[in-house]
Amino acid sequence: MIRLLWTLLKIGLVVAAAVLLAQMPGDTTLRLDDLGLVIEARTGAILVALLFFGLLAAFVYRFWLALRRAPQAMRFGRAGRRRERGYRALSLGMVAVAAGAADEAKRRAREADRALDGAPLTLLLAAQAAQLDGDDGAARRFFQAMVDEPETSLLGLRGLMAQANRTGDREEALAIAARAQKERPGTPWVLEALFDLRTANGDWDGASAALEALAGRKLVRGEDLRRRRAVIAVERSRLAEERGDTASALSQARTAWKLDSALPAATARVARLEAAAGHRSRAEKLLRDGWTKAPHPLLGDTLEELWSRLAPSVRFTQGQRLLKGDSARPETRSLLADLALAAGQRAEARKLVEPLAGEGASARTCRQMASIAVGEGDTEAARNWLARARQASGDPTWFCRACNAMSAEWSGACPQCGVFDSLAWRPPAPPAPGQAAAIAAIEQELETETVAAVAAPTGTEAPREA
Ligand SMILES: [Zn+2]
Repeated sequence: MIRLLWTLLKIGLVVAAAVLLAQMPGDTTLRLDDLGLVIEARTGAILVALLFFGLLAAFVYRFWLALRRAPQAMRFGRAGRRRERGYRALSLGMVAVAAGAADEAKRRAREADRALDGAPLTLLLAAQAAQLDGDDGAARRFFQAMVDEPETSLLGLRGLMAQANRTGDREEALAIAARAQKERPGTPWVLEALFDLRTANGDWDGASAALEALAGRKLVRGEDLRRRRAVIAVERSRLAEERGDTASALSQARTAWKLDSALPAATARVARLEAAAGHRSRAEKLLRDGWTKAPHPLLGDTLEELWSRLAPSVRFTQGQRLLKGDSARPETRSLLADLALAAGQRAEARKLVEPLAGEGASARTCRQMASIAVGEGDTEAARNWLARARQASGDPTWFCRACNAMSAEWSGACPQCGVFDSLAWRPPAPPAPGQAAAIAAIEQELETETVAAVAAPTGTEAPREA
């Protein structure tokens, strides 16, 4: 609209100029003697003619220019339309990937590749389409091709990493993460991957370096950071102890405990190493304080280990002394009852355990009651308690939150799936309510069948057809 007004204005100006010039008074004589040419006209008319020829020349020049540029402009137009088609195929392909339509995605990937001459982004679409189609080999080739292009190298490495993780190839994943870290240091997903892979591999020094890099970029912070540092320190302490470096083992254990005193593995470890270094009372205090906060059996076990050289009766007295203020707690009662039973003090053990032996008593309580009954010569009662122990839900132990694998000992990463800090202390899951009823129904059926088989006279079976 503005362009049109501008053009009209320009035409108006030219016309006005021509009219003004044409009306100019006076005559001009133009003599070109050598050519024998004499032009006599009004000055205005000559000026109008000059203006007209000037405009004509400008028009002819522009037309010639346009003619010369035409093939190039046509080429550009075609390439633009092709690019447009390519990007359209690319975006429709991405939509197809998101919708899970593998065939459509592959078709669009080919279309985009043709139109865009193998632009890096088409490789990503092709790789995703291949993945969707379950063709891991093709996806790997496309990701590898992306790795070879500087612009898409990191994206390609990420794709290869996801594939290595899916096939559980930790070594391959670690090599890819190391390469990505070299190419683009400090990329968040690379640091996370390095941390996960190193913890899974038990490379605790490497894991610590990866964690500090994550912390430096504020990608892990607060409670999460403290907890991760504590778990790693426990594991580094264990490794130091294994290679005989007791000083480093103790110092790492102290660090772990300072970071997270609620981590039973840290408390148990620091107490055991303090005792080994001759600081027995410090060790006892650490365990008692830990027990008062959260009575984890690992702490009770460590206490018993600490007193393993003492006579059983002394151990029981020590336990009573140490846990005096905490005797109402069921866990404390169970622990002291074990010490009392080991010392042959059945009456004391009974006093401790009986309050726990009501409805829903734990397997441990039932076993302790059975031991007391055995000691008292009451076989019948012992049998009853053992039967109850079998019915009770199992003893708690370590279970992986990620893969549910059971583990006898705590460790910083699940021994089965390698997930960091995934072990939780809990009783095994009780059987589903329907399970007992289903078993009872089969038992009932079995009994009926057996009765029928016994009742039926032999030889009445119909002969089988050959
Ligand atoms: Zn696991």
